[in-house]
Amino acid sequence: MDMLGLEKVLTKKVGRAIGRFRMIRPGDRVAVALSGGKDSLTLLEVLLLLEKRAPIDFSICAFTIEQGKFLRPIEPLRAYLQRRGVEWAYFHDIPSFHLIREQPEHGCDLCSRYRRRAVYEVVSGLGANVIAFGHTADDFCEAFLRNALFTGKLSALPAVTHSRDGQFRLIRPLVYVTEDLTQAYAEAVGAPLVPCGCNQKTGTVRRAIRDLFARLENEYPNVKQNLLSAMGNLQLERLLDPQYLDLDGAAGDASRPDLLPVLEE
Ligand code: SF4
Repeated sequence: MDMLGLEKVLTKKVGRAIGRFRMIRPGDRVAVALSGGKDSLTLLEVLLLLEKRAPIDFSICAFTIEQGKFLRPIEPLRAYLQRRGVEWAYFHDIPSFHLIREQPEHGCDLCSRYRRRAVYEVVSGLGANVIAFGHTADDFCEAFLRNALFTGKLSALPAVTHSRDGQFRLIRPLVYVTEDLTQAYAEAVGAPLVPCGCNQKTGTVRRAIRDLFARLENEYPNVKQNLLSAMGNLQLERLLDPQYLDLDGAAGDASRPDLLPVLEE
């Protein structure tokens, strides 16, 4: 797909997510969390395109939290954002550096908690009320399977949520965008990617789930799209949470032949 084709697909998918979940509203100032990877840079570029075309007014800025894990200098990113005219805050999170020194084997939970605190601090300074993260359709699908298979919950990631004090709306506009698209787009625009040296990402469970998807997609290329559709199309009466079941027949089961196969199984 050429650059124009990629932009068309990406703006359509991101626009759909923004509209469906009311992610961006008039007057918002959206701070994009740039991790140095292909996904968040693609997100920034797509939001910049939508900013020009959208019927509502909103503004965009960006930030990066330095936790001591980047493998390459961040300077090319600074130059790139200057050329793009994007206000960017680059925040050294000192407590994260202490964490690396004192607990080098820390896991993602602790690392994310440190980052979250730093994010709220830096975003306040940028005057933003919305924080946009670059989690993709792949992240949603992997989180869904991980939660179902390893924690016994049916859940993925929140497409929209709010900080505990209600100050910030947290959004994930790439929910319908798969990583083959972000990869192709980041390459096409020549985005200066700054890799993270963290080895936690290759944890066994995560790798197993990625491998499982890769094997399935070889034969059934739409499995991720189908899983995303399933997440937005719940049939609660066919799951096992009693709070959603009509245990006393108040809804009149006799008139619901579609329930019979369930009873017979
Ligand atoms: S993958 Fe690394 S940088 Fe990302 S949350 Fe986990 S520990 Fe932190």
